[in-house]
Amino acid sequence: MNLHEYQSKARFAEFGIPTPKGKTATTPQEAYEAAREIGGAVVVKSQVLVGGRGKAGGIKLAKNPEEAEEHANSILGMTIKGLTVRKVLIDPAANIKTEIYLGITNDRAAGQPVMMASSEGGIEIEQVAREKPEAIVRERIDPFLGLRDYQARNLANGINLPREHWRAFSKIAASLYKCYQESDAVLAEINPLVITAENQLLALDGKMSIDDNALYRHPDLAEMRDVEAEPKEVTQARAAGLSYVKLNGQIGCMVNGAGLAMTTMDMTKLYGGDEIGPANFLDIGGGAKADKVAAALRIILADPNVKSVLFNIFGGITRGDEVARGILQALDEVKPNVPMVIRLVGTNAEEGRRIIDSANVPNLYSAATLTEAAKRAVELAKGAF
Ligand code: GDP
Ligand code: MN
Repeated sequence: MNLHEYQSKARFAEFGIPTPKGKTATTPQEAYEAAREIGGAVVVKSQVLVGGRGKAGGIKLAKNPEEAEEHANSILGMTIKGLTVRKVLIDPAANIKTEIYLGITNDRAAGQPVMMASSEGGIEIEQVAREKPEAIVRERIDPFLGLRDYQARNLANGINLPREHWRAFSKIAASLYKCYQESDAVLAEINPLVITAENQLLALDGKMSIDDNALYRHPDLAEMRDVEAEPKEVTQARAAGLSYVKLNGQIGCMVNGAGLAMTTMDMTKLYGGDEIGPANFLDIGGGAKADKVAAALRIILADPNVKSVLFNIFGGITRGDEVARGILQALDEVKPNVPMVIRLVGTNAEEGRRIIDSANVPNLYSAATLTEAAKRAVELAKGAF
């Protein structure tokens, strides 16, 4: 789950990282009031979950409250990379001398967090990594030791930070690591971390991504989720307890088990290619009952790209007959108008297949192997019955 800039910076501030003391607004009038209370020049910043807002015109400086209101008026409602702006952050404007980058994420290959710093701040780090990789310095962190002081100094030295800022920089690096760890984050990023004309270090932008699987330990963070900013299928899937990721293909896949779901995606892609391949990843989990199957089917069919549906069920804890009844009940409720293939194996598979076959559902075909099922789903998506 990604946090908005204003949420990330509020979290950073709780851990002692210096941030501008701003306010959010959802109307131009509120933006005016916020700017008046803050006093002086402000910056009006769109709150959408994408980078590069500056370049897209979603960040504007305002000399006074009237200007802040005008900017808020143009920024609220604008679309940035497909997302509508519903909120702006009004921050006191900073006088920027230098922009640097400081971030932390998981280095999966190393199995450790890695902290990264760069003198090329303000630009997306992915771009720096492509164009000027030598400008990024890294320190891997042993989770049992935490970030050591010498590592923070290595980073400061690696980006040629003037000595006078090392102490403040080290403190921010330590706080960012603590914030990252205690929030169960997979990413915490300050870009830019600026040196102001007054020679202070200040986190002007913030980005945090929290591990979804750890959210149960952080009700305060879970509450920050911006449901309006995500596709409604994702919200529905979460509510139904399903793991769902939308993809761009035409075959809706309903599978029990994450590994089996990955294999199903591979197989549909193998036979259908990029265009026809999987329309989604969807794991209904073990022991799914009819209501869950129905919810999953509704989510799959809400995608207009879906031209066929593939059920790939391996009966283990989930019994084949139970799933078969669930699917029939769901089909009764949802009534899809696209062809479907079902591959059912494992515990009580034969009984499950018998149940499916005797129901005589039009446009529902059964397959004995995954290869056969995937090929069939591709043919059906192409319109060849
Ligand atoms: P992003 O483009 O979505 O990453 O948004 P940022 O918050 O990083 O802002 C983009 C750029 O706007 C920064 O790199 C700064 O150059 C500029 N900016 C942001 N806040 C201020 C500010 O308070 N004063 C000034 N002068 N520039 C700012
Ligand atoms: Mn930024």
